[in-house]
Amino acid sequence: KLTAEALQQALLNTADQIEQQKDELTDLDREIGDGDHGINMSRGFQALKKELQGKDPFEDLGELSKLVGMTLIKTVGGASGPLFGTVFVKFASKWNGKEAVEGDQLYDGFREAVEGVAARGKSQTGQKTMLDVWEPFTEALMGAEPLETVIENALADTKELKATKGRASYFGDATKGVQDPGALSSSILLRQIAEVLN
Ligand code: ADP
Ligand code: MG
Ligand code: MG
Repeated sequence: KLTAEALQQALLNTADQIEQQKDELTDLDREIGDGDHGINMSRGFQALKKELQGKDPFEDLGELSKLVGMTLIKTVGGASGPLFGTVFVKFASKWNGKEAVEGDQLYDGFREAVEGVAARGKSQTGQKTMLDVWEPFTEALMGAEPLETVIENALADTKELKATKGRASYFGDATKGVQDPGALSSSILLRQIAEVLN
């Protein structure tokens, strides 16, 4: 079960964890991108933290998700900003007016988010992007495997792929064996969400 209050907490935890891994995210993006992913995510999640801390605890997942989506779209920038923003805009479209979701409703929100990212990014799984973490996580919501394990395995698999989408695709074979920065930042967020699910 995911409540509005729990998601809000997961986002605050993500903001702190992004700060801790900011340099790691930027270093990866320096290897197979333009060296700004940690900076982009830090800017966005610090802005989000400020936004959330000034508000009463949310009771509506839709209202919270909408604010998160808008804030991330405005502040993250790069290719990843609109994609992370899309995730929450899609959550909002499925979870409007709900204080908590579980089972099919939880899954449907994530499914919509994954499809939204793929549509917006004109991308699909297997191209070494954030989708390679979001997709298996989403499917695992309906399975029995611990989400933590699913995230670990998705990250390990993504690392070995050759990038064929986004800026990293210009680095070709050199991307094999280097973690995708957006996959890593996605894993940070999804881990925090997994932790507050009950
Ligand atoms: P930019 O590449 O514009 O500098 P960032 O560095 O913030 O943007 O984000 C790069 C990350 O965004 C990549 O590591 C990848 O996971 C993700 N990404 C980029 N393009 C796409 C896409 N078309 N579909 C899905 N994810 C993408
Ligand atoms: Mg970049
Ligand atoms: Mg950039």
